[in-house]
Amino acid sequence: MERCEAGDRGSENHRKILSWCLHCERVYSAEAWDRNGGRCPGPGCDGDVWDRHTWPWVRSRLRLLGRSEYPRKPAEGAHFPLY
Ligand SMILES: [Zn+2]
Repeated sequence: MERCEAGDRGSENHRKILSWCLHCERVYSAEAWDRNGGRCPGPGCDGDVWDRHTWPWVRSRLRLLGRSEYPRKPAEGAHFPLY
């Protein structure tokens, strides 16, 4: 079960989801994205949820980044380069 983003908005689960930003390559909680109106909370970053600049961390960590050595539960705002 991985499709818990859109349908789950506002729920406790949704808030805890960590989203990785394709633009600044940082991880923020879904709650922080929501608070920022769907834009990346990263300083000066122009990533947003509508253009799919964000990926759920649990999935992107392995499938997109292919980095099993990256932490499962990283600190908010931590930087994880794509390459
Ligand atoms: Zn960003």
